[in-house]
Amino acid sequence: MLTLTQATRPPAPVPGALDLSGTAAQERLHLPQAASVRLRSNGFVHMASLAVTLNRKTGPQTDRQALAIQAVNAAYRAFPGLAGVDVAVFDAGKYLGFASRTSPPLLTLSVPAGDRRTFARALKAGTYPRVWPGAPSAVMPPQAPAPVISLLRPVWRGPAGQQAVALTFDDAPHPLYTPLLLDLLRRYDVPATFFVIGQNAERYPYFVQDMVRAGHQVGNHTYSHAPLTPLNEAEVRSELARTSRLLRRLTGQDITVFRPPGGGLSQTVLRAAAANQLRTVMWSHDAADYLNPDAQGLEAAFAGTLHPGQITLLHDKVESTVSALPAMIQEARARQYVFKTVDGLLNPEPARRLVGQQPGAATP
Ligand SMILES: [Zn+2]
Repeated sequence: MLTLTQATRPPAPVPGALDLSGTAAQERLHLPQAASVRLRSNGFVHMASLAVTLNRKTGPQTDRQALAIQAVNAAYRAFPGLAGVDVAVFDAGKYLGFASRTSPPLLTLSVPAGDRRTFARALKAGTYPRVWPGAPSAVMPPQAPAPVISLLRPVWRGPAGQQAVALTFDDAPHPLYTPLLLDLLRRYDVPATFFVIGQNAERYPYFVQDMVRAGHQVGNHTYSHAPLTPLNEAEVRSELARTSRLLRRLTGQDITVFRPPGGGLSQTVLRAAAANQLRTVMWSHDAADYLNPDAQGLEAAFAGTLHPGQITLLHDKVESTVSALPAMIQEARARQYVFKTVDGLLNPEPARRLVGQQPGAATP
């Protein structure tokens, strides 16, 4: 059973201006170009995520920047107490909703409250780091190295001798929920693993960099989140190679782990992963948070299944996951479990680099 007490629960969200539904939030924001306004809390801080649309697709970069600045300022004015705002600027004629994979934003940026006063000047000067200027990435042909034999089997859990659990979040980064999750993980000092979709990483690179700066592991969840089992090996390799290259460039780290979208496994998928020096990581506990259970259900299922070497599958974009996370962490700690990244769980020795090893060399 959960051992949670009132005292260890995070405080309730700050009442007042930030408790607004979408329409009410939109009215208060007072920005005609706003297509979507979302406010969420993790129990400690509130974040706002805005999609705004620009009428001229070919408008110069300065138009996009000006609209983004206007949107950030409007959000901080309308919702006092926000910890962060992110804005995605879309072409009005092509806007298909926030999560559309086929209609990319023209520009995204993230402004933590601490940058609120200074970001606009830095943005105009080209020195603001938390911005993606909408440039498409070049697609390079995939290399064709030999698969690393020891990586041809998927991993479902860590060694059973370890009183340790790895939390994994698929489909990251999400511009609203990633900052809330990162804030919670920092407060509880929990390292985690984010399986990142390349396309999302391209649009929100600063959130991927936030993960690594906070000590989390970043894994490969393909570039487009396409189901992999219908693809041939060259196509799978290309999905994985493109994503690993992007993530390596963003984080400065070797990417060592991969999770297939929807858990779709085949020998072809495993060979393509091994050829990219990626270990295919599945899970020993599926929280099924994508079905949007309530937070209590998530907490109880986690408590009921907790086992040594557990790898828990969660998602980066689910409200109840944010709500349930503090109780899950406290439950595991009360039972003397420690939290590890996937690499930390699989390699109890100091982490070994996979990139650069001889193909076929023994890996743990
Ligand atoms: Zn996924």
